[in-house]
Order: sequence, then C-alpha cells, then structure tokens
Amino acid sequence: METQPLHDDMEQVLFSTEQIQERITALGVQIRQDYAGKEPHLVTILKGSIPFIADLMRAVDVPMTLDFLGVSSYAGTQSSGEVRLTKDLDDDIEGRHVLVVEDIIDTGLTLSYVLRNLRQRMPASVKVVTFLDKPSGRGTQIEADYVGFTIPGGFVVGYGLDWNQRYRNLPYVGILKREVYAGPF
Ligand code: 5GP
Repeated sequence: METQPLHDDMEQVLFSTEQIQERITALGVQIRQDYAGKEPHLVTILKGSIPFIADLMRAVDVPMTLDFLGVSSYAGTQSSGEVRLTKDLDDDIEGRHVLVVEDIIDTGLTLSYVLRNLRQRMPASVKVVTFLDKPSGRGTQIEADYVGFTIPGGFVVGYGLDWNQRYRNLPYVGILKREVYAGPF
C-alpha cells in the first residue's frame, strides 16, 4: 500500500506546537496552584492523551503519581455510542485525588462512563483536564475542570488524536482534508 506523506493530508493547522506548549504551561500553573498540599493521581485515558500527559505532567511542578485507563468508543470518525474498558488501572484509587486526563470531550459519553467507573472506587476527589473540548457535540451535562482549547466542531487529528489510528504523531492539531476520510467519489 502506498502512503502519503503525513502533512499533505492536512487541510489546516488549528493549533501549532508553540501554541500547544504555551497553553499547557498555563494549565500547569493553574493545576499546581489548585493541588498545593495534595498529591494528584493522574489517570490518563489511552491512547489519545499520551502526548498531552507527557507535556502536562512536566508542567505541573508538584509530587504526583500516574496511571492509565484504556477505553474505546470510536470507529473512524464516528462514535460507536458504546464505551468499553480495554485496560484497567494498575493501582487502587481509594482516598486519592484523581485527575482524569482526556484528549478531547465531544459527546461526553466516554467521560461519563469513566467518571461513573472511577467514582465507584471511592477516590477522595475527581477532577478532569481535557486537552480539547467540543461543547457543540455534547449529549450529556458534563464539563471538564480544566480545558486546553475549546473548538467549535469538526474532526481534528494530531497531538495524540487519530483517524483510524493514524496521525497521532503530528506535533500539532489539524483538520484532515475531506477526501482523506470521505474517500474518492
Ligand atoms: P466522546 O465520548 O466525548 O464523544 O468522545 C471522546 C473520544 O472520542 C475522545 O477520547 C477521542 O478518542 C474521540 N474523539 C472525539 N472527537 C474527536 C475528534 O475530533 N478527533 C479525534 N481524532 N477523535 C475524537
């Protein structure tokens, strides 16, 4: 199979590497202030949040611990509407200050499922930080405590976000050319 160079598939760059780093630095300061005297336990949702957590954790200058939760709900550009656990946490979260790290909140289905699941485990507190927020897609009453960028809608890729498992390694957030996911007519 012939593969196109990665960047040729982009219609537009929404957030550059520099803009992302600047925003994450500011988020880090806010989170550090809010968690002063507490040790946050960062529960990262796989796989889209990997670049975000890698940068965010280094921007939050407090003692913290880290774990990963695997969930899946998307096939291509469409939510299947059904969320399932693909990897459970390694550690117990009872009595801990959990900060859920998400890549993007769209309908809110994934996050609702994750929060319901985590709250059953009796953490001391649960907050959410999301790299991107797409409030126009929301079907549930759910908000993140910290948001990197709010976007209007559309399907974005890069900086961890995929289309059919590709484009996660783009160092920026972009919009795919329509022909890439719509296919030839
Ligand atoms: P929700 O359950 O809130 O509808 O969707 C959350 C998950 O859907 C995200 O963790 C992400 O994997 C995927 N998702 C939602 N919107 C987008 C998007 O615009 N681009 C990509 N690549 N994934 C998205």
